[in-house]
Amino acid sequence: HSKAEGRNTFRYYSAELTRSARERLTLEGELRQAIERGEFELHYQPQVAVADGAIVGVEALVRWRHRVGGLISPARFIPLAEETGLIVPLGEWVLRTACAQFQAWRNDPSLSPFTLAVNLSPRQFRNKGLVQLVRAILEETGMPPRQLELEITEGAVMEQPEAARSTLLALKSLGIKLAIDDFGTGYSSLAYLRRFPINVLKIDQSFMRDIPNDVGASEIAATIIAMARNLNLKVLAEGVETGDQLAFLMARGCDYSQGYLHSRPLDGDAFAALLRGSPRLRT
Ligand code: C2E
Ligand code: MG
Ligand code: MG
Ligand code: MG
Repeated sequence: HSKAEGRNTFRYYSAELTRSARERLTLEGELRQAIERGEFELHYQPQVAVADGAIVGVEALVRWRHRVGGLISPARFIPLAEETGLIVPLGEWVLRTACAQFQAWRNDPSLSPFTLAVNLSPRQFRNKGLVQLVRAILEETGMPPRQLELEITEGAVMEQPEAARSTLLALKSLGIKLAIDDFGTGYSSLAYLRRFPINVLKIDQSFMRDIPNDVGASEIAATIIAMARNLNLKVLAEGVETGDQLAFLMARGCDYSQGYLHSRPLDGDAFAALLRGSPRLRT
């Protein structure tokens, strides 16, 4: 009796595993094709100065325009792209496309200069050709280095801090800016943080979600803001959705804010229209 049950259980799990393995293979194949066919697009979300709502930057966020599945969120394909290494060609496309788009906006005299932020995955960050690639894309697109900011997660830099430090220094020497994304969720050694050539800390959106109701989240966010100021770093809060959250950030002296309160990520045309229409966003 119990033996039969065991067998059923085994069959159940193995069927599940087969199904998810097959789904994974399908998705991997589709992802590979999508890169060749150019099925990706970038959406853009403004970053605003907490003090006056002025747009100071924009983050490029990738989406997959699937022939049948519609617009697919990066949460669904970035992890697989990371595992399979497909993130390297995809990430190169993202950086080149974002820089080219930014140049088109800069050439429009009604649009003022600000920072373009682009995400780098851990695997992209560890890739040997990274610094050379960034240099090549800056030259090719005419993107001014001081207006490009690369976002890297804590995990990517803390895994091998010494190697990470030399990559960060090499990137910094190109004249670009560096940000730590999703700050507060990973494990950062503060000693290393001080030695890294970082410009911006981006407070993870999980903290904003619970502000101002949760004392713990509020205290952590306030501590990160204070620490960033003491280390002479800029600090940006992600996932800002309410006026109360923005008021909290203003009271604590946070520099920048990004979230649905100001704007959702928009396609390139909608973002350009937003810039022309309102140099300041809802605060
Ligand atoms: P992230 O870099 O931390 O980007 C912020 C995410 O929060 C975006 O999700 C954005 O749409 C979302 N968001 C912005 N404001 C709000 C808000 O007020 N409330 C809530 N609930 N969410 C908000 P998205 O676009 O789905 O991207 C998810 C993650 O995928 C990104 O997190 C980033 O880690 C990764 N990703 C996106 N584009 C790229 C890319 O081009 N390259 C790489 N390597 N990773 C990317
Ligand atoms: Mg980011
Ligand atoms: Mg983030
Ligand atoms: Mg994230």
